[in-house]
Amino acid sequence: MPQHVQLYDTMTRSVRNVSAADGVTVRFYCCGPTVYGPAHIGNFRTFVSQDVLRRVLELAGWRTKHVRNLTDVDDKTIRQSQAVGEPLTVFTDRWRELFRADGAALNLLPPHVEPGAVAHIPQQIALVEKLLAKNHAYRTDDGSVWFRLASFPDYGKLSRVQERELAAGASGAATVSGRNLADEYERESLADFALWKARKPADGDNFWRAPWGEGRPGWHLECSCMSMRYLGESFDLHGGGVDLIFPHHENEIAQSEAATGRPFAAHWFHTNHLLVANRKMSKSEGNLYTLADLQRRGFTPMETRYVLLAGKYSQPLNFTLESLAAARVALKKLARAAVALSAGAPALDYEQLVNRAAALSADNPFHPAWAALKNDLNVSAALGHTFVALKDAGRFADPPAAWLGFQRVIGALGLTLPPADDDPVPAAVPAAARDLVAQRWAAKKAQHWQLADQYRARLAALGWTMQDAKDSYKLVRAGDIKDLSKNKD
Ligand SMILES: [Zn+2]
Repeated sequence: MPQHVQLYDTMTRSVRNVSAADGVTVRFYCCGPTVYGPAHIGNFRTFVSQDVLRRVLELAGWRTKHVRNLTDVDDKTIRQSQAVGEPLTVFTDRWRELFRADGAALNLLPPHVEPGAVAHIPQQIALVEKLLAKNHAYRTDDGSVWFRLASFPDYGKLSRVQERELAAGASGAATVSGRNLADEYERESLADFALWKARKPADGDNFWRAPWGEGRPGWHLECSCMSMRYLGESFDLHGGGVDLIFPHHENEIAQSEAATGRPFAAHWFHTNHLLVANRKMSKSEGNLYTLADLQRRGFTPMETRYVLLAGKYSQPLNFTLESLAAARVALKKLARAAVALSAGAPALDYEQLVNRAAALSADNPFHPAWAALKNDLNVSAALGHTFVALKDAGRFADPPAAWLGFQRVIGALGLTLPPADDDPVPAAVPAAARDLVAQRWAAKKAQHWQLADQYRARLAALGWTMQDAKDSYKLVRAGDIKDLSKNKD
């Protein structure tokens, strides 16, 4: 029997057990990125928190089915692909691959299904047809199709947007869907949103044929369509950033429940905003950091992951370069603890951990940390409990069980620990120099002084100097002893 995992539910405004309708597999959908550029760390905060949820569920004994879409057709993807003169799919494929590489670097478990909107046009057209047939949608003269908000009395139940706010909200809805919606389309109500956007000259080749005319699906539609296609009309959990609650998730609920007459997602999981140095992230602030930006500053993806997960997912998180430096120290500390706890036993991989975690008992020294994770993903409490428990390392009654308990927490957080020893060679050192360092050190150890000196000279020619201590060394740039892992810009 899987263990209970509690999580705040935006719909009921309460912390509830996550449950699986079939009692076995938690089927969940997460809104994925729009693939028109590199994802920034604010996007990744949401994906990291979803990853931690999935890991906690799996380590608690649940199976999961995780679907995350890729938005590969909308105004931004079309405009940007045209700007660089590439066909839409060539353009979005490239950004999808970068997103996957970034996800792998952050140790995100890949979703079981990662559908794109362009590959699901017929299914989206079928959903629009269903809504038209049930009178929840209508066509306008230009060939667009709109959802008739007045036909769905439950509208607003997730965001609790008031009726009187809807008119004002309509302008917000228009902004989010990326266009200036003038009355020329003859919408019945300003709050109605587009299910299908009629073809415009600016769309170029990017249009599809539907029974009511050429065009493309609206953004909200793809998530209703693909979540229900892969998880069923009713499924267990839906996640995304808080900025998606209204109108995107509200619109998903309206479309889906109007079409099927059944409840859509049973649990709503939203991750709060990421601030950078106390400022909202935006292009104009110049603080839309990507993983690559942080790597150029010398910080590893794992250090970034640590910062992104360490705050409570439901609260805004302030991201700073100082927090990355603190993450580096914390990860080193955990790495040294792992060496001590393992007593030479190999670390389990994630699958092995999932299989063996159920055997752990509640008197495990790392149980309080695990319990904190199951209690609404309280990661900061879990890390606190972990560091407290480590103070007793060496006095544990059952060292192998303690090692397993520690690994369960680290595995749930998805952390890959760095080498416990400080690497004397900065990460930026090229492979050729790295090899010479190893050869010179070996020659010196073997007391081949002449050979060691030759290697030293070749290293110097590449611009590096080894500073020897009694039993160690440090590699520095010749004539420049500043640490290369910092201030690379
Ligand atoms: Zn979505």
